[in-house]
Amino acid sequence: MANPLTPDVLVDPVVLTRTLVDIESVSRDEKVIADCVEDVLRQTPHLSTERHGNTVMARTDLGREQRVVLAGHLDTVPLNDNFPSTVVDDLIYGCGTADMKSGVALALHLAATLPDPCYDLTFLFYEAEEIDSRYNGLRLVGEARPDWLRADFAVLLEPTYGVVEAGCQGTMSAVVRTHGRRAHTARSWRGVNAIHAAGEILQRLEDYRPRRVTIDGCKYREGLSAVKISGGVAGNVVPDECAIEVNLRFAPDRTEKEALAHLQDVFNGFDLEVIDSAPGALPGLSAAPARDFLIAVGEEPAAKLGWTDVSRFAAMGIPALNYGPGDPRLAHAPDEHVEIGKIRDGAATLHRWLATY
Ligand SMILES: [Zn+2]
Repeated sequence: MANPLTPDVLVDPVVLTRTLVDIESVSRDEKVIADCVEDVLRQTPHLSTERHGNTVMARTDLGREQRVVLAGHLDTVPLNDNFPSTVVDDLIYGCGTADMKSGVALALHLAATLPDPCYDLTFLFYEAEEIDSRYNGLRLVGEARPDWLRADFAVLLEPTYGVVEAGCQGTMSAVVRTHGRRAHTARSWRGVNAIHAAGEILQRLEDYRPRRVTIDGCKYREGLSAVKISGGVAGNVVPDECAIEVNLRFAPDRTEKEALAHLQDVFNGFDLEVIDSAPGALPGLSAAPARDFLIAVGEEPAAKLGWTDVSRFAAMGIPALNYGPGDPRLAHAPDEHVEIGKIRDGAATLHRWLATY
């Protein structure tokens, strides 16, 4: 197959978005799109390009004082009668238009057309973001080639509808248990009912007032929810155990350790076991490239409430944020689309930020 990513496609981020959407790349099937992207980058003389699995990295080495990563995943969720792309007025419809080939198009357009950026740039086009994190290209590269991620600042071009979404909240799941003593229900006073004891846990959840906190101008809103409850032995047995699974979403000014201490405090007196946890990421908007980026965008940043790959950079001490032309509410939807105007705005913003050396 001839590479559809020709020079006249690469110069126009809108045409490039469509062309990328029309290369099918459902998770675990990214070889063809990675081949096309790698081929383009290898032909770009100001970049040095390497590949790990179906993740492609290309970077400049201009000796600039600071380095910025621009990253995007190449994969999409499964097709849903929305392939190939179609255009209706100012909208491009199709699988991956918002999440996130319009963002990938911005990065690839810059990679191909900006030989003299004001920061050294590292472009990462990675595989398997939409599935289990053990396949995640960014995670794999972080383990095998951590030097590829090294930078002073990172932008993930995930859908944010042209707004800067900074940092992200952490998440912690835990099981809170009550214990009792089994007995026949005909002589229930001989037992201790663990399900009755769980009422106190539910009451504490009902009374819980989640914290709101503003960091670097971003407003975070925490939450603590029961997500599962189980207990009971048989219809004639006083139950001796009840388990309530809770999920805490915590603002990034708390570490995982502090989040755990908070849960232990809320459920003081009960047996608590953490079953899953991922740290949040501070917005990190005080880094110089981040400040310049916010000026180029010209709008207030918003807090990212969900967990994203931004945290992988934060865990390495690299401030990172999300910024992309797609509308996050349309991600994974059958009528997924992207506004052509948002793609053009995004390209103009990134040029303003990076082309002023
Ligand atoms: Zn995405």
